[in-house]
Amino acid sequence: MTSVQTETGILAGEQRMLIDGELQPAASGATFGVEHPANETVVGDVADGSVHDMERAVGAARRAFDETDWSRDTDFRFHCLTQLHEALQRNQERLRRILVTEVGCPISVTGSQIESPIDEVRHWAEYGRDFDYLVDTGLHDTPLGPARRKLHHEPLGVVGAITPWNVPFYLNIAETIPALMAGNTVVLKPAQLTPWSGTELGRIIAEETDIPAGVFNVVTSNANEVGAALSADPRVDMITFTGSTATGRAILAAGAATVKKNLLELGGKSAHIVLDDADLSACLPLAAMMACVMSGQSCILPSRILLPRSRYEDGLAILKASMEGFPMGDPWTPGVMQGPQISAAQRCKVFGLIEAGTDSGARLVTGGGMPENLPVGYYVQPTLLADVDPNSVVAQEEIFGPVLTVTPYDSVDEAIAIANNTIYGLSGEVSGADVERAFSVATRMRTGNVTINGKSHFGIDSPFGGTGQSGLGYRNGAPGYLEYLHIKTIGMPE
Ligand code: ADP
Repeated sequence: MTSVQTETGILAGEQRMLIDGELQPAASGATFGVEHPANETVVGDVADGSVHDMERAVGAARRAFDETDWSRDTDFRFHCLTQLHEALQRNQERLRRILVTEVGCPISVTGSQIESPIDEVRHWAEYGRDFDYLVDTGLHDTPLGPARRKLHHEPLGVVGAITPWNVPFYLNIAETIPALMAGNTVVLKPAQLTPWSGTELGRIIAEETDIPAGVFNVVTSNANEVGAALSADPRVDMITFTGSTATGRAILAAGAATVKKNLLELGGKSAHIVLDDADLSACLPLAAMMACVMSGQSCILPSRILLPRSRYEDGLAILKASMEGFPMGDPWTPGVMQGPQISAAQRCKVFGLIEAGTDSGARLVTGGGMPENLPVGYYVQPTLLADVDPNSVVAQEEIFGPVLTVTPYDSVDEAIAIANNTIYGLSGEVSGADVERAFSVATRMRTGNVTINGKSHFGIDSPFGGTGQSGLGYRNGAPGYLEYLHIKTIGMPE
């Protein structure tokens, strides 16, 4: 295990993958570097797995599902996941430093990315322990007389989990733990930029839990073809994926040949409709904060602000002041809430979209460049674009940066039409003093989830899923557990 430590808190994670119960390098011995985005330096390495390594991992997961009791022994799974919960708590500070190292996320805002997912392990363990896997629906009339029917909830088999880099530890947990507790076996393929949040999970499972060999595997790779191999493998029953819509389409296509189940959480371009009775001084600073925390690298960010024309300039002034005063800087400094973008390529993409915005007539109110006081690290100033044409590229493409676009509207119907003018449908927000009116607007937004007056829709106990090209299926809540189970209806004598 690598253990690079510096005064900033930088910490490199586990280099080895977990395949069939063994922590191991790539069969080829290849590795690739992991960069700390705040200092633009490679701070350690990780195994560069190949398609061959992925095939071995899928084989191990298949065997563990087909040949062990894992899928049938709920008590044992509860025991193992309770162990894992305790082990993650012991490793919490190490996981936090690895997360800040590979993502560049400010240490002050890591609670939702470390403590919350660790709690979720406990949640799913208890949820799965108490779940009713056999439901007797009683007698049903049939042409051949009454038949009793029982619904047997069974795991699907091998689940491939492909995760992105923006909130890697959280998503590694969110995608794999309900799958495991439901009795599936798992192959996790973490994102290239954030492999350690995955390999650390593998190490902890191997070293500190009784989870049997093959039940949980982690394959890291610098090549997209390794994720593609997982999504096409006929031995895999389901892919759970969070990432871009483009990659989601590729995963769906790859799974089509074997009619694989897919749970997809994809991109978003969510709108925030600010109604004319909204308290601007409450809702807009919060909107600015949401755009800057995580450097805007959040799929559920309501990045398109729709302001009533009557309050347009007042709203812009509040957003400008909030963004200009936002605490950005080195992610290790307590109190900093916006760190760098994750990579040079991502920063370049953000700048390209800002430029596309100004090219199409948007007004740059603030930001748009690199902060002068942070010459090293992939920082982007909080950026506000006004007068944004709802059909322009910057209003249609997900930016994944600390950028808000603002568009004025004249009527609520027009605001709803602008909000719905997107291929996406992940999340959304409505602000307004009249909550009933805000609720009615929320129901007309073609999107998966809506926050009203800053009251978040997101949490472990509530289903979360996208509409349109933002996804298929649900995470969290009761539907989020059912995704990992097949319901077998058994008809039988009375
Ligand atoms: P981004 O473009 O922001 O890097 P992606 O959606 O491409 O995000 O990546 C999310 C995850 O999907 C990563 O783990 C990545 O390795 C994986 N991935 C990329 N391309 C493919 C593919 N064709 N098939 C399966 N997984 C892929």
